Amino acid sequence: MHVTLFRQVRPFGGPVTDLVAVDGVLAAELPPGAHPSSVLEGGGRIALPTLVDAHIHPDKTSWGEPWYSRRPAHGLPEYVVGDVELYEHQRAPIGERAHRLLAHAVTRGTRAVRAHVDVAPAYGLAGATGLREAAERLAGKLDVQSVAFPQHGVVRTPGVAELLTEAARAHLVDAVGGIDPAGFDGGSADGREQFDLLFGLAERYGVLLDVHLHDRGAAGLGPLRELAARTVAAGLQGRVTASHVFCLPELPTAELARTADLLADAGIALTTVAPSAHQVLPFRELQARGLRIGLGSDGVRDSWSPYGNADMLHRAHLLGWTTDARTDQELTDCLELAAHGGAELLGLPRADLTPGSPADFLLVDGECTPQVVVDLPPRELVVKAGRVVAEHGSLVS
Ligand SMILES: [Zn+2]
Repeated sequence: MHVTLFRQVRPFGGPVTDLVAVDGVLAAELPPGAHPSSVLEGGGRIALPTLVDAHIHPDKTSWGEPWYSRRPAHGLPEYVVGDVELYEHQRAPIGERAHRLLAHAVTRGTRAVRAHVDVAPAYGLAGATGLREAAERLAGKLDVQSVAFPQHGVVRTPGVAELLTEAARAHLVDAVGGIDPAGFDGGSADGREQFDLLFGLAERYGVLLDVHLHDRGAAGLGPLRELAARTVAAGLQGRVTASHVFCLPELPTAELARTADLLADAGIALTTVAPSAHQVLPFRELQARGLRIGLGSDGVRDSWSPYGNADMLHRAHLLGWTTDARTDQELTDCLELAAHGGAELLGLPRADLTPGSPADFLLVDGECTPQVVVDLPPRELVVKAGRVVAEHGSLVS
């Protein structure tokens, strides 16, 4: 039995207490006769659940590489060209860069990620194999779910369908992605060409699906409705996610509610990265209608953007900023989306610091949860399954 005692911590900024981890799970008290393998002093710090990055692109990152100067780009095709240029310019291989970024995420209190890696003839399956290398090096510190993402399109780029099929067939990834079937990829208004492939792979190889939908208006809503219909027809409820979904926030209230019900009935989950006030998903309204929603970083210091830091507490702060969160409850909601929203989406047990939940938490100096979301204090300690995985911003080896 592996027992760790964390003394004098304040769960969610509440009263000081001790946390006991027994074999990776929190217990109400020290088991009779048990001697803790280690005792750590919390010093009255706040304990919060560790966070889940439900949407990140670690293969694209230049994290830890020399500064990269970006040229102006307009529209998806130009961004995609920029991805390939940066890829060819990078010194460290994907596995190394992905490990750097994801290790950094662990030190900032991330317990799990859903990572999209580009799959296209320009890279072959290097994204998927590189991510797997990084995930193996971080075993026990970070749970990694992988998505083979057709950033270059399925219809518009020959060879992508074969590579996605190979990634799914070889179980190199947990999920297969998609991208704007009716807009960027140039398929039919309902996206059927791309969805034929994706649902075929999901049914044949048991992979999850996670489709990027940037298209707004009918080009977004058509494929979104088709995604829901096909998910139900294939009996894949709970196994399909739509990411970004910029066509939702612009809908009038009644139509948003109708569309949310359609997605909830199909068991489709959504992710948002809080990019701006008009593109962020109205997560409270969607959750109230039964949808699972995760929060993510998206690209981090890649060709698309010099911004991002894979710090999910910072992302919760940005979610509060873009949604104009003011009250304690609104600020706490942002943290909970980063913690519980993502955990539910990835199928992980909820880490809420109660007995029976995973001993996954971080310690910070602070007054209370909403103040932590605003002030972003350093993560002093990060604990996964009862073991310290990062301390004072560095990974524990
Ligand atoms: Zn993305």
